[in-house]
Amino acid sequence: MDTEVVRQRLDVIASLYPEAHCELHHTNVFELTIAVLLSAQCTDRTVNAVTHGLFARYRTPADYISIPLVQLEQEIQRIGLYRNKAKHIQQLCHLLLTQYDGKIPATREQLMQLPGVGRKTANVILSTGFCIPAIAVDTHVERVSKRLGIAHADDSVWRVEQQLMHHVPQEQWGVTHHRLVLFGRYRCKARQPQCPHCPLRRECDEGKRRTGIHPVLS
Ligand code: SF4
Repeated sequence: MDTEVVRQRLDVIASLYPEAHCELHHTNVFELTIAVLLSAQCTDRTVNAVTHGLFARYRTPADYISIPLVQLEQEIQRIGLYRNKAKHIQQLCHLLLTQYDGKIPATREQLMQLPGVGRKTANVILSTGFCIPAIAVDTHVERVSKRLGIAHADDSVWRVEQQLMHHVPQEQWGVTHHRLVLFGRYRCKARQPQCPHCPLRRECDEGKRRTGIHPVLS
């Protein structure tokens, strides 16, 4: 797709969410990392409800490994996959203490070696935590990008990320991620996208199909 067309579509989304930002509560990069780890297959609202108390009780990597695993599991048991996540948090904290002086490293390569941290999580930490340009492709970003034709339906997540990096100016990668997340979460939902009310319905093949707009006459 032509870059100008992509940017026009993203501008429409930007006008809907001009102030988009990370909705996971955190006060430093370490808390952000814990929150992003917890957010897999879980709503930000639930993560924030859990981290509200968690971050008050445990402030450093040493705090998290000073308690038995089962206690950490209980702390986060409202969150899906909590057993795996508790294990990853303790492994991650141990690695931070032994290899990184208790700090979150600031390169993608190092981040992706941390337990539970894949490319998407690493990109969120780089972008939101360190202000290093990166565009994280989660399920919302992938779905919206494909529906809007920015990426092809059968593209891999990595290919979607490449397409976005190609079309979007680097200084807007972070905010574009947050805007696409909000647009996908609240409007272009997986099961019931709000196509009849979407300002992009005439540009979007999925929207045309769902609203009955003829693809040629539109
Ligand atoms: Fe999503 Fe529908 Fe809007 Fe297309 S028209 S971007 S499918 S909400």
